Amino acid sequence: MGSGNFPAKNTAKKAAVIGGGLGGLSSAVSLAARGYQVTLFEKQPTLGGKAGTLTIDGYRFDTGPSLLTLPGVFDDLFARAGKSREDYIDVIPLSPLTRYWFADGTRITSDLIEHFIPSLTKTFNIPESESKAYFFYSKKIYDLTHSIFLEKSLHRLSTYLSRETLASLMRFFSIDPLRTMDRANRSFFKDPRMVQLLNRFATYNGSSPYKAPATLNNIAYVEHGLGGYGVADGIYGIVSGLERLARDIGVDIRTGTRVERILSGPGRRVTGVLAEGQELRFPVVVSDVDVLTLYTQLLDDADAPLAKRYRRLPPSSSGLVYYWGINRGFEDLGAHNIFFSADYKKEFSQIHDEKKVPDDPTVYVNITSKITPADAPEGGENWFVLVNAPPHDGRDWQRDLDKTRERVIERLSRELQVSLADHIDAEGSLTPRQIEEETDSYRGSLYGISSNTLTAAFLRHPNFSRRWKGLYLCGGSVHPGGGMPLVTLSGMITADIIAGCV
Ligand SMILES: Cc1cc2nc3c(=O)[nH]c(=O)nc-3n(C[C@H](O)[C@H](O)[C@H](O)COP(=O)(O)OP(=O)(O)OC[C@H]3O[C@@H](n4cnc5c(N)ncnc54)[C@H](O)[C@@H]3O)c2cc1C
Repeated sequence: MGSGNFPAKNTAKKAAVIGGGLGGLSSAVSLAARGYQVTLFEKQPTLGGKAGTLTIDGYRFDTGPSLLTLPGVFDDLFARAGKSREDYIDVIPLSPLTRYWFADGTRITSDLIEHFIPSLTKTFNIPESESKAYFFYSKKIYDLTHSIFLEKSLHRLSTYLSRETLASLMRFFSIDPLRTMDRANRSFFKDPRMVQLLNRFATYNGSSPYKAPATLNNIAYVEHGLGGYGVADGIYGIVSGLERLARDIGVDIRTGTRVERILSGPGRRVTGVLAEGQELRFPVVVSDVDVLTLYTQLLDDADAPLAKRYRRLPPSSSGLVYYWGINRGFEDLGAHNIFFSADYKKEFSQIHDEKKVPDDPTVYVNITSKITPADAPEGGENWFVLVNAPPHDGRDWQRDLDKTRERVIERLSRELQVSLADHIDAEGSLTPRQIEEETDSYRGSLYGISSNTLTAAFLRHPNFSRRWKGLYLCGGSVHPGGGMPLVTLSGMITADIIAGCV
């Protein structure tokens, strides 16, 4: 995606951005960098949306995302505003990456490709040539897809007329769209532990490796080839860095201000927003709000064809999160830890088909105090513990929360040979219902619609509305999808379309 300073040619133009998640912040910054007068409305008292921050009894937690990939996306965003990302966000490359604990007792620590390949040989007895062939395959998919599927609108003719897109379309089958991730991974490796490790990347956009197209196997290269990153002040440091940037370039940020409705005139032309009982005029409105919430609540247009379609598309998975302040340190754990279930296929079938919290869940433990000691009182650790769960369906999650807590504690106590419950000093939790209530994300899905089908990439809402003139969309429920780098890209794509630069 191109970067650089853009001419300030739109000084007369005003734009409203609804929602201060990473997508909304990205769009606000990109538009301000192009000379728009931007007002950003966020209903919560603080910015960040799903990427929030929470402090309980001296333990600080990132409430949602924990691993940053593709930090170059943020570099590009800052460059648009003529600023340097380094001056605002302190990104830390991670090596090693993740400590994996398998149900059969095997342990392996993942790392960048050059360090990881020898470990794979040592632990799983996989010949180096086989691992190399896999990462070559994964990189090839990434090279063929990233600029088209991630950095451009899929709904503009200009995308398809570029030489790059045509070349990629000619090599359509090289992006491995017709097999599932699991099937492709099994064609490379016989060891079920290696397959499980690679299948896990489907969860990076809330999908199942037994349904999602193998094109998503590019994520293995993104993480192991391009690297996983932490942030010095925790992931929330990205939000505060972007907030500072937005203020520096003149974005008017109004937190604690819910937009009640989008205003419109004849011919479904958007004319502004209604916020706190006031009608405010804007010729351009960008929504970082979930697509269905936008149509049903902000536009009163629940019968719009795209709203109807969204109601039929399966949302991505959600999660149960436990925020635990732990009163001691664990040397066996790193910043990122995965405790795999014994039967991965059953786990995904329970989440995506039976819509239940798995009996034997894979447990993810993120500890930012390993990177930023100030995130926990001295000698302690801040554990963010995530179990994948189905989206909210109206149930009362307390039973699932309690039952899963017991199982997670039992599993982690066994693996770490400690009575974990005795060391939980401070505690909080997050359920799919809360995610829906707090961020207006349809059914509390973490990443918009799931990528469980070949067509999902093409079914996401465009970054603009054909039905409502002057309305543009960014965030996890629209193209190119959920996750920090993608929603940030969505804000940039949206601004490019508004400014007529594509
Ligand atoms: C538990 C969890 C774990 C995750 N792990 C990762 C990870 O490791 N890596 C990764 O890349 N991603 C991860 N994600 C996903 C990532 O957090 C999201 O994809 C991304 O932050 C979404 O950004 P967004 O801009 O689309 O929307 P959101 O963050 O949902 O922001 C939307 C904002 O709009 C506001 N809003 C809604 N309605 C209104 C209104 N009417 N008026 C004003 N404001 C309104 C909301 O309050 C909210 O702040 C995770 C998410 C969660 C919840």
